Amino acid sequence: MKNLKNALLLKQLYQLKNLGYKYTSVSIFKEDELDLTLPNTLESLEKQAKECHLCELSKSRQKVAFGEGSMRADVMIVGDAPSSTDDSSGKVFTGRSGELLTKMLENVLGLSRNDVYMTNVLKCRALDTQSPSPAFAHTCHPYLLKQIELIQPKIIIAFGEMAYQYLTGDDSLMVDVRGAVHEKDGYKVIATYHPNYLLRNPSAKKEVFEDLKKVKVLLSTM
Ligand code: SF4
Repeated sequence: MKNLKNALLLKQLYQLKNLGYKYTSVSIFKEDELDLTLPNTLESLEKQAKECHLCELSKSRQKVAFGEGSMRADVMIVGDAPSSTDDSSGKVFTGRSGELLTKMLENVLGLSRNDVYMTNVLKCRALDTQSPSPAFAHTCHPYLLKQIELIQPKIIIAFGEMAYQYLTGDDSLMVDVRGAVHEKDGYKVIATYHPNYLLRNPSAKKEVFEDLKKVKVLLSTM
């Protein structure tokens, strides 16, 4: 929550700067003036995210792609950032990579998009989609943590290295952790390749198939 607090403080300082202030002390802000709490329902959390201007991505986004799916999902899907089609639609995992993800979920796990909950580490599109600034992800992270807290999934599939690293706090590379089960408080995280990667490297579909089969086995034992 420290990241969110710092971002809120920064936002307030920008507002003062726009009003003409040249110097101030952070001590002028009382702790209770900073709204550090996030809502306890997904609907309210989504509403807050859709009005969020805590990082620079709010300037270039078209729509906030907050997340969608079952609020009681056992399986949560987390990717890195919205695509250009996500940005224009406000949905997540759209376009060709979304179609591929949908097929994989149906064919391997026997689950539809409505059976799982899908979101990204970042809720707004990063113009540099290959390597968005870690500062954006740090600022946005409380939204993801709150989504996990509210949905309480049994398994989170981290699609891509960035998602894995933010979910686990482990800086390992995808090649070293792909398919391994990472235990978190109350749920498991399994990392695999992002559907976007599979579109560029179709031969890696075999590995993702194996990882999703592992998810299926885990689900059957829970
Ligand atoms: S990326 Fe996250 S923190 Fe940044 S403006 Fe969008 S919702 Fe807010």
